[in-house]
Amino acid sequence: MNCQRTQELIHGYVDGELDLVRNLAVEQHMEDCRACARVFSNQTTLTSMLRSDSLYHDAPDRLKKRIQSSLRKEVKSEMRPRAFGWRWAAIGATAALILLIALTVWNFVPRSTVPAGDELLAQEIVTDHVRSLQLPGHLVDVLSSDQHTVKPWFDGKVDFAPSVKDFADQNFHLYGGRLEYLNNRGVAALVYQRRLHYINLYIWPSGQAGSTAEVTTQRQGYNLIHWTSSGMNYWAISDLNSVELHEFARLIQQE
Ligand SMILES: [Zn+2]
Repeated sequence: MNCQRTQELIHGYVDGELDLVRNLAVEQHMEDCRACARVFSNQTTLTSMLRSDSLYHDAPDRLKKRIQSSLRKEVKSEMRPRAFGWRWAAIGATAALILLIALTVWNFVPRSTVPAGDELLAQEIVTDHVRSLQLPGHLVDVLSSDQHTVKPWFDGKVDFAPSVKDFADQNFHLYGGRLEYLNNRGVAALVYQRRLHYINLYIWPSGQAGSTAEVTTQRQGYNLIHWTSSGMNYWAISDLNSVELHEFARLIQQE
């Protein structure tokens, strides 16, 4: 089994949904493949984060009462004589069901205090960046300043071909690459070095043609810049100052 197939199955593996044969195949592949083993450990971390209490909210009493009273009305209307009509009963039941779904969604969708969309992704990227620098040997799976070594390393590990370039002339030295699991998918992480600072550049397909302008944010002392171009998402993160990180982002976009 190759890396791409393994990663397709890792979701199911984490959730215990695979049959015995596939389960074994995934385990065997991960024993020999550090990159996929890490995709697995990232996925496990993410899953346990999403299950944590911080994302769970009780429905407010107001909403509970509204649903209960709506259900009571529904029961009363069904107890009325036939003249009321089955059609109205069906409409009432549908409305009650919609309210129940609303209650469920209310419980599971994070609100206000919990970041959504890009916010959540930015948090995921900060966590990944910090972890890549903290753990020994975690920063790169392929250590090379040669773009012709790093680019082909991703073949079969991700379902797209990230463009890889060294910018040593501009003092952004290609340091290597690794496989990561972000935004619920395998992504390519390229690592660049500027003096003593490391930059992680995450790349994956955006699913949409065209480009969007750079968006800059700051989080936990790190600078983050993200943009899309030619159908790919790019997130750059570093403790480098924002002027130089912008310089880096421009170089990547000029490719
Ligand atoms: Zn693999």
